[in-house]
Amino acid sequence: MDFLRELGISKDNSGAYNGEWLACKGEWLESRDPATGKVIGRIRQATGEEYEACVAAAHAAYLRWREVPAPKRGEIVRKLGNAIREKKDALGRLVTLEMGKILQEGWGEVQEAIDIADFAVGQSRMLYGLSMHSERPGHAMRESWHPLGTVGVITAFNFPMAVWAWNSMLAYICGDSCVWKPSSETPLCAIGLTNVVRPVLEAEGFGALATLVIGSGREVGNRFLTDKRMPLISFTGSTSVGKKVAMASGERFARSILELGGNNGLVLLEDADLSIAIPAILFGSVGTAGQRCTTTRRLLVHEKIADEVEKRLVRAYEQVKIGNPADEKTLCGPLVSASAVAEMMDALEQLKKQGGKILCGGERLTLPGAEAGGHFVKPCIARAENHYPIVQTETFAPILYVIRIKNLEDAIQKHNDVPQGLTSAIFTMNVRHAERFCAATGSDCGIANVNIGTSGAEIGGAFGGEKETGWGRESGSDSWKQYMRRQTNTVNWSNALPLAQGIQFG
Ligand code: NAD
Repeated sequence: MDFLRELGISKDNSGAYNGEWLACKGEWLESRDPATGKVIGRIRQATGEEYEACVAAAHAAYLRWREVPAPKRGEIVRKLGNAIREKKDALGRLVTLEMGKILQEGWGEVQEAIDIADFAVGQSRMLYGLSMHSERPGHAMRESWHPLGTVGVITAFNFPMAVWAWNSMLAYICGDSCVWKPSSETPLCAIGLTNVVRPVLEAEGFGALATLVIGSGREVGNRFLTDKRMPLISFTGSTSVGKKVAMASGERFARSILELGGNNGLVLLEDADLSIAIPAILFGSVGTAGQRCTTTRRLLVHEKIADEVEKRLVRAYEQVKIGNPADEKTLCGPLVSASAVAEMMDALEQLKKQGGKILCGGERLTLPGAEAGGHFVKPCIARAENHYPIVQTETFAPILYVIRIKNLEDAIQKHNDVPQGLTSAIFTMNVRHAERFCAATGSDCGIANVNIGTSGAEIGGAFGGEKETGWGRESGSDSWKQYMRRQTNTVNWSNALPLAQGIQFG
């Protein structure tokens, strides 16, 4: 395939870059197309030795990079964004091939990387600190924001390019370097993207800002957690691994950004505009084959319109074309792996035992051309109660639980009654109900939308969740602050030494 060559991907690839591709000594990892099961390429993974060479190089790059003025750093990030823009088509196709999301979403993912680069360029001139009025005469008080260090970026399979960009573009303008450990499901996406950005950084003498280490969570990922050279670990993945990251980084007083599992609810009130709600639910629940952290998993629908909504959704689901994600007519591609399919089947078994009723879908599919091992399923709609243990759990697959509600208060109570807190949405034409949902006593999630779905955040808004979804914010607003250290400066320009709080000493 031409786009693989365009991105510098061969049959056999190195799994570590620190300014140059290293000769790795670890085991070979095979990357497979989830639509066909065929091997796309192999990666020689990093061992502890290459990990060490990577982190040392990234740290050395940071020590030089922090001296480059922030707006100049922004100019280089502009070039990174442009390099990605030029390769948008090839990168999007690679996301589709290796991760399995449809082409529109593959290109959308790359566009997110471009958007955050643009955002970061502007932000590089706006790393503002406050100035305060000192209580002492002849004194000035202000906050300065300084680079933090080398940021460890550990990413999930489902956004194999965008999440690295969310973190690294902001980290770069803040004066940090990054070491990236991608998911073992999507190593070639990381290699392709690194090959796109590295000429820009190498030309500036800063290749090691975009250091990459490919290896298993246990072999390589674990090392990040205890490595004192990384004052910040930005982790995107499951709640169970995220808990380990939180504890290990907390143990050594490192910061963490934790973007973990979601269990996102969409509330449909009686007065909802179904002409926009149904497409929003469809995109939210079937898009990326239900493998988005923001996927709509629970539909909390008013009992008066529930039958009608179920009927319309089942009809819409029946029209979804499932197939190879590279085919532009496909709306739903495969799951990422055989174990993801098994987890979906297991979840549906549990659902039935707990009292749920399947309204449509939920079967495995074998499609022509995918006999070698495509991981296709039929997206499922099921009637359920919010308290079922399986409904309280994130299953990373296209299962939409339909839960009936009596009124807004009932909806908010049920909506918040899950351990996770990432995204949420309400569809209503009543401004009081909409505002109530977004108020302090409404949705308890990091994101609460009105008349748009739970999925599809845009750069500019801070992205992240609450409760078991973790903490920290990425992408927009003032999330840059997490990649810097704050220093308070008090400067005495008088010829006296007054003490704060009026203390007289000696
Ligand atoms: P995962 O937790 O299995 O893996 C995530 C990353 O952690 C991978 O790179 C993996 O190799 C690494 N890892 C595994 N064990 C590790 C260890 N002991 N130490 C360090 N790193 C380790 O998650 P996944 O299956 O790749 O992704 C799906 C999950 O990610 C879902 O729960 C989804 O909701 C979540 N997610 C959340 C967000 C968000 O922004 N909240 C975004 C995308 C995905």
